Amino acid sequence: MKELETNCVNTWCPGCGNFGILMALKKTVEELINNGTPREKIVLVSDIGCNSKIVDYINVNSFYSLHGRPIATAEGIKMANPELKVIVFTGDGGTFNEGASHFIHAARRNADISVFLHNNRLFALTTGQFTAVSPKGLKGKSTPEGNVEEPFNLPELAMTAKASFIARGYSAKADHLKSLMVEAINHKGFSFLEILQPCPSFFNTINDYNERTYEITNNADSKDKALELISEWNYNGEGKIPLGVFYKKDRYNYEEAINKDTDDNKVDINKCLEIHL
Ligand code: SF4
Repeated sequence: MKELETNCVNTWCPGCGNFGILMALKKTVEELINNGTPREKIVLVSDIGCNSKIVDYINVNSFYSLHGRPIATAEGIKMANPELKVIVFTGDGGTFNEGASHFIHAARRNADISVFLHNNRLFALTTGQFTAVSPKGLKGKSTPEGNVEEPFNLPELAMTAKASFIARGYSAKADHLKSLMVEAINHKGFSFLEILQPCPSFFNTINDYNERTYEITNNADSKDKALELISEWNYNGEGKIPLGVFYKKDRYNYEEAINKDTDDNKVDINKCLEIHL
């Protein structure tokens, strides 16, 4: 764990859910390394936002992308070197406002990357504007009278887009979150892990999530069962919020299809650079 520390000064607010996600990530990387994945084979790709600073606070190769574009960047990295484990850290605004089409198509083509979504349900770095998953009625800088839009249900959207792994964790349950991260990263294909992440500064959901979340016990392999679990919470209403793996299915992934005809099963990155420089 000591080797994973960096010298960057942490600028997250006290009590931010991102701390729990960072803790779970460090334990996840440690487990991957202990199980034979060299640290240099792990690449983190981030968006822009409070969430994305996580790559500054862990000593693993990483790449800051443009806002809303980390999934496309991650797909390129994975295609160039399929041996890498490529993990996207992004937020609800960047992914489902600016970058929604990237998410949908990466899920559809089953790109072998993991998307870890810090879901605080607003734009936090810019001090609290609503996103595509903010609850109806949310008051903030851009919605002083309350948000009038209906939020996406993200696991439902991922299911519709044909994601082959769909799960939800909670930043305050770091051990459970770590087990979901490991399972998502080891899944061959597109894995989507939504992480509930309270933002105490602009939308404090800590007490609400502590009361309402519960862990499911089964790994759903049926779409009907998955949709039943997913529909328990629609981001607006009351009721329980399930955590765990909703859906998991093995299917041919994009990199296997793209690389199947190459001699060594790899794209030659030097040839790519020669063409484009
Ligand atoms: Fe965390 Fe919210 Fe502060 Fe950003 S603004 S660091 S999400 S508490």
